[in-house]
Amino acid sequence: MTRTLKTKVLVIGGGPGGYVTAIRAGQLGLDVTVVEADRLGGTCLIRGCIPSKALIHAAAKFDTIREAVGAGKLGISLACEPQLNLGETLRWKEGIVDRLSDGVAGLLRRAKVQVISGWARFSDGKSCVVETTAGPVTITAEHVVLAAGSEPVELPNLPFGGPIVSSTGALSFEQLPRRLAVVGAGYIGLELGSAFRKLGVEVTVVEAQDRILPLYDKQLVRPVARWLERAGVIVHLGAKVKSFESGTLAAEGKDGKLVEVNADAVLVTVGRRPRTQGWGLETMGVDMDGRFVRVDDRCRTSMKNVWAIGDLVGEPMLEHKAAAQGEMVAEIIAGHRRRFDPVAIPAVCFTEPEIVSVGMSQADAEAAGVEIIASQFPFAANGRALSMEAGDSGGFVRVLARKTDQRIVGIQAVGAHISELSGEFAVAMEMGATLADIAGVIHAHPTLSEAFFEASLGGLGHAIHI
Ligand code: FAD
Ligand code: NAD
Repeated sequence: MTRTLKTKVLVIGGGPGGYVTAIRAGQLGLDVTVVEADRLGGTCLIRGCIPSKALIHAAAKFDTIREAVGAGKLGISLACEPQLNLGETLRWKEGIVDRLSDGVAGLLRRAKVQVISGWARFSDGKSCVVETTAGPVTITAEHVVLAAGSEPVELPNLPFGGPIVSSTGALSFEQLPRRLAVVGAGYIGLELGSAFRKLGVEVTVVEAQDRILPLYDKQLVRPVARWLERAGVIVHLGAKVKSFESGTLAAEGKDGKLVEVNADAVLVTVGRRPRTQGWGLETMGVDMDGRFVRVDDRCRTSMKNVWAIGDLVGEPMLEHKAAAQGEMVAEIIAGHRRRFDPVAIPAVCFTEPEIVSVGMSQADAEAAGVEIIASQFPFAANGRALSMEAGDSGGFVRVLARKTDQRIVGIQAVGAHISELSGEFAVAMEMGATLADIAGVIHAHPTLSEAFFEASLGGLGHAIHI
């Protein structure tokens, strides 16, 4: 028999968009139900941000230990090669995932949110049926929040299966491949590709465009390109993948030349697409914006009281955007006046070294006709960077400020551990800081944050340490 359930707020998806919506709505005293087919935490916690950063960390540790073998470094040496027990590494990574997923379940319980496990299918805008282990449940709601997330894009000539894997497969390799071909030099390809290289895998990257990380400017990605070269990662640019047969990946390179890469596994990371199929979205009749669900600045869809957030509604497909939209939607449903209008959404790439970009790039400013002051401070002149062996990687912090009033309109940085400065950069942008505001704040010594302070001083024409 079908059980029926009525709720004020029905959230589809227990990823960072959905679970944050539900917790905030619960905190505000609303009656909330979340439907999640998989484990709580979504792409980010279960097979994305968290497990990938855990693997990146483990790989960096292994690489650092290996550097000490023989003559060693910094006066530290090891007599023998370190051993990798991949099974143990993966168990450690899964332990973190379990802890966070259980934590989300606990937070939802505390917010009195009802969680239904199963796949939701809609037949109209306000009701869905969920196939649970205890039978079907029909849920009707006053408000529906769509947070169905995204899935990896599959290339027709390289379908997932066997040795051809998406990020999900690569995060759970039972055995490390000896040779890995990575298709796509974007976020995932370079984050995971670099980690596998550090674990000793021979990595070759094949990218369709004529540069790696095409999202960022050339100067910003140069330190990453240098690291890849030094680490022995082969990068083929401007190459279009054709096939993978008998252990050989074939691509059409620049000038039509054939590129062949011998590989035991192929990691395809050519982007993600919103999950818009398989759950009845088409029956709801909401307007689309290309492949994404169209929403306004309150995350309202074209249908009354149907909201959509996160990866489902467009770029950037990032955890912190999904969560921020979810929190806002919960508050609007509870009667608050909110709009999604951030000055900037920080983007961080956890490559070697890391990249951060917040706000406008130089090209954005040029296109918008904004005259800017650009000021850059190198890691090579920052004591903390040098004392952490991060001074020679080509790292820097660049501040862009409007010429007319010196208000900061963009910040880009590359260097070891720079991800931890993304918060300070975002605060500066969101609070409308000028160069003088940052230059007027005493930054602790020795820290990497002094590079931001010095870049701001430089914009005013009087950097001290350069
Ligand atoms: P998702 O996290 O995809 O969650 C959607 C959930 O909805 C899923 O759990 C799914 O099972 C469920 N669902 C969908 N349809 C139904 C249905 N019909 N019934 C029931 N349940 C359903 N972002 C960052 O900001 N920083 C990073 O470092 C980062 N690293 C990443 C690394 C990798 C390898 C990947 C793949 C992604 C990474 N991301 C990162 C992106 C980040 O994971 C996403 O932006 C984020 O998870 C989007 O959240 P969401 O809630 O919109 O969707
Ligand atoms: P991406 O968009 O970052 O990069 C895809 C790359 O593949 C691009 O460089 C593109 O030019 C290339 N490409 C596309 N088609 C190709 C083809 N046929 N052959 C060769 N190259 C091709 O996508 P991704 O790396 O799959 O990541 C997906 C999304 O996940 C990201 O856009 C981001 O939103 C999110 N993510 C974020 C983080 C982070 O915040 N640190 C980390 C991982 C993933």
